[in-house]
Amino acid sequence: MANIVAIVGRPNVGKSTLFNRLVEKRVAIMDNQSGVTRDRHYGYAEWIGKHFTVIDTGGYVEGSDDVFEGEIRKQVKMALGEATVILFMVDVYEGLTGLDQEFANVVREVNKPVFVVCNKADTSERAMMAGEFYALGLGEVYTISSANGSGTGDLLDEVVRHF
Ligand code: GDP
Ligand code: MG
Repeated sequence: MANIVAIVGRPNVGKSTLFNRLVEKRVAIMDNQSGVTRDRHYGYAEWIGKHFTVIDTGGYVEGSDDVFEGEIRKQVKMALGEATVILFMVDVYEGLTGLDQEFANVVREVNKPVFVVCNKADTSERAMMAGEFYALGLGEVYTISSANGSGTGDLLDEVVRHF
């Protein structure tokens, strides 16, 4: 059976940046003008000899007032249906938001491995600020920087254990 990793989380936490880091560049289709991902995207990745599909979720349209019902629920439903492992991404710069909490409330119902991925931990000082995300009650918080790659290896080591 295919191994599928879904990246979910509120807009702007860095889902597409991680996706682009994990998969072959040509698979990602970004809208450069608005900086948002238009559709769900699939890509293929490999880590220590294990192959898997990565799904980038999103497509949030700026100005939409129906973020939760529209986009988030769709993303989480998708993750429920397809994913082997869910990466629930949050942003250490912004800290824990209400939207993160709403995501967490749905994600915690999923009977699949969920990794809390605290992105934008570009420095060790930043990484130390990730402690508040333990309050989500979803277990270990993995600090990474999708921008510079730090922490992504340790995260993937744990993710591929589920394959
Ligand atoms: P998405 O909406 O969750 O897909 O988020 P994007 O991947 O589009 O990233 C949103 C913004 O965060 C962009 O300006 C990225 O350059 C920035 N970003 C993503 N990852 C990182 C990171 O690890 N560190 C920093 N400092 N910025 C990041
Ligand atoms: Mg995106």
